[in-house]
Amino acid sequence: MQTSTAVPHNAYLGSWHPETPECPVELREWQLASAWRIAEDLSEKNPFYKGHLGSLPTERSAEAFRCLPTTTKDQVVVDCEENPPYGSRTTCEPADIRNLVETSGTSGQGREVYVMNEVDEAAAIQMEATGFWWSGIRPGTRVLLTLPVGTTAAGLWYYGGLRLLGANVFSVGSYPTERKIAFLRRFGADVVVGTPSYVQRMAVAATAAGLDPKQFGVEVLIVAGESYEEAWAREMELLWNATLYEQYGCTERAVAWTCPGGVLQDGRLGVLHFPPETAYCEVIDPSTGGDVQDGELGELVVTPLIAEASPLLRYRTRDRVQWIAPGSCSCDRPLAGIRAGGVQRYDDMLKIKGMNVWPAQFDAAIFGVPGVMNYRGSVEVANGQETIRVRVECPPNRSEAIPREVREAISGSIGLRAEVQTLSPGELSLEIPEGFVKVPRWTDNRRRDSFSSQIGIARNSE
Ligand SMILES: [Zn+2]
Repeated sequence: MQTSTAVPHNAYLGSWHPETPECPVELREWQLASAWRIAEDLSEKNPFYKGHLGSLPTERSAEAFRCLPTTTKDQVVVDCEENPPYGSRTTCEPADIRNLVETSGTSGQGREVYVMNEVDEAAAIQMEATGFWWSGIRPGTRVLLTLPVGTTAAGLWYYGGLRLLGANVFSVGSYPTERKIAFLRRFGADVVVGTPSYVQRMAVAATAAGLDPKQFGVEVLIVAGESYEEAWAREMELLWNATLYEQYGCTERAVAWTCPGGVLQDGRLGVLHFPPETAYCEVIDPSTGGDVQDGELGELVVTPLIAEASPLLRYRTRDRVQWIAPGSCSCDRPLAGIRAGGVQRYDDMLKIKGMNVWPAQFDAAIFGVPGVMNYRGSVEVANGQETIRVRVECPPNRSEAIPREVREAISGSIGLRAEVQTLSPGELSLEIPEGFVKVPRWTDNRRRDSFSSQIGIARNSE
């Protein structure tokens, strides 16, 4: 692990190499040319991609690239199982392997495995360091890293990126919440890194212990892994007296970060920018494969530009994002990006009483009711009937009116009936598990056989 202090070559752009173009059009062409070189190399030499890609077209445009076959999670998992342990995509010599990361894996689905050589590892760490730099982290900055450093990418690469910048990292991911808070009391921290629900859980646990989260002196919160609403972002900033930043990342090497200033830009949810050197990112309409326009929703498809050991081409993340064209953010960076707070999993879409419903639709309806602080929902089956249950945190003086208002908001905007129960502020946070666990707001308790129903839901969303 490299531990010397480093700075991006061009910190504004987030580039580590002098030859990376700054103009948005040139940068996009440079990324596309790199992606085509990878496609050519894989179609000639890679045992997995030779058959998968077939012969390439002669044209080298973005449109022609969009017509190349995509790679799915299932294909990667099956390849790893049939060609153990790293899959036939991996042609790296064992002596050149420096690291291994796995995807977290949902129940019933296998884990993808990616190995990294020295170049890959340095690039992954630099792409995280870029965003930490934009978040204000410098040599000696005290960072409470609440993610465990194990074999999943987030903890490992965050740790590496923070060390690369020379931060003072408190790697407390494997400790229980009480011990993390004891750490904050004793040493303080300038930055706390975690999932949105875990950052909230820490604030609730501190308050329950008679402490005010503001007293720890935290100036920056960096969250990743779950969607959230604008009101939630404001509430966390007030609760901690800190500025909220966000990272989006997947093990397949797409990463995006808020720019300096954080999540709330001009009072609204801002943009997560793709660092220039890590990936060629496309956002497509999953039903047609065509690209979406600025501001539209679609599936993120990633071709990592530096993944020599375990290469990938046009990997379908199944993450639903809002595409933001370069220059749309007030920071004026020439980098494309996605909307902060808004990444959803296509697999999280619920099919209730024959209707396709996104958790974001429930979020908009329920958080639109004044006084709602947090909620969790579930879909149950009782006596052959599908029932929606919503548990809402609210202040005691609103607990009588809120069940009716939430029911009306859901039936008015989505057309479904729900049972609503109120809870005291903070109760839901105590259910959040330790570690880097992405907690969806919605659970589908109709799933007896989680594997087959997840496949069913995945198909429904296309
Ligand atoms: Zn920006």
